[in-house]
Amino acid sequence: MLAHVHTPTSLDDALSHLRDRPPGTVRVLAGGTEVMPAVNAGTEPATELLSLRRVGLAHVSRSEHEVTVGATTPLADLASDPRLSFLAPALGAVAAPPVRTLATIGGNLFAAPPYGDLAACLLALDARAHVAGPAGVRVVAVEEVIDHGVAEAEILTRFDFRAPAEGTWFFHKAARRRLNSAAVVTVTAHLHRAPDAPDHVASARIALNGVAERPWRARAAERALAGRALTPEAVLEASAAVLSHVVPRTDAYASGWYRARVLPTHMRRALLGA
Ligand SMILES: Cc1cc2nc3c(=O)[nH]c(=O)nc-3n(C[C@H](O)[C@H](O)[C@H](O)COP(=O)(O)OP(=O)(O)OC[C@H]3O[C@@H](n4cnc5c(N)ncnc54)[C@H](O)[C@@H]3O)c2cc1C
Repeated sequence: MLAHVHTPTSLDDALSHLRDRPPGTVRVLAGGTEVMPAVNAGTEPATELLSLRRVGLAHVSRSEHEVTVGATTPLADLASDPRLSFLAPALGAVAAPPVRTLATIGGNLFAAPPYGDLAACLLALDARAHVAGPAGVRVVAVEEVIDHGVAEAEILTRFDFRAPAEGTWFFHKAARRRLNSAAVVTVTAHLHRAPDAPDHVASARIALNGVAERPWRARAAERALAGRALTPEAVLEASAAVLSHVVPRTDAYASGWYRARVLPTHMRRALLGA
């Protein structure tokens, strides 16, 4: 039963609160779109919530190429930020506006599958995650946080990544409904073109959501595209490479069979637009 909600006003206070409590006692609260339904349903085991709302982790900065996004920045704020316009299609594909007003980009890394569209974007962007804890700040690949979470006494504070150059960023989400539905398949990719052959892929970072048990970097697809022209045949081979490395998940939105069937189509739509 929930007994306390704490609203520290600095990261240090938030961290010391986590450090001082017995394991399992405190749940970190960001936007609350996952946590509060569990609290209201009586299934949240922690007896205290530690709100990050006033800790100062909601911010965006961008130099010409480098972007920093604070972990508690709401999705709606990111969607309206012209410096992050390449992310607008992804942000517009998550839930409905009231959820986007609350949900944070950091919380998306911990969201229950098949949620995690922003996490997939951060994977394809090769984002670094800053995680603050009792021993200081560790900077790790975002994949590390997606795969292993953070320790109970730690707080994810921000992401850093390079903004993709014009024409190198791709996002496509297939869902049961056009709006406000979780992913059947989300494909997100950052493709680098060969300078002397712009129709060739020099290297690729591709991440999928909805397919595997978590937002997942499709390294086999990246290898299949590297050094090749971006043709329907190459994309089909990249899809086949994905399916040789993962058995797609089955859930309420789609069966694994269906996801496997439609993956090549959505990879093609993501990368070739048709
Ligand atoms: C109706 C609905 C529709 C949705 N549709 C989509 C969709 O289409 N696509 C999609 O990707 N997602 C979707 N989501 C999921 C949504 O994006 C996530 O719920 C949201 O991003 C989680 O962020 P939050 O700030 O609300 O997290 P919270 O609910 O506050 O926290 C979630 C978990 O993350 C932990 N956590 C959060 N922030 C931190 C931090 N900084 N450090 C350490 N731990 C932290 C919390 O302790 C908790 O365990 C949907 C959600 C709802 C409710």
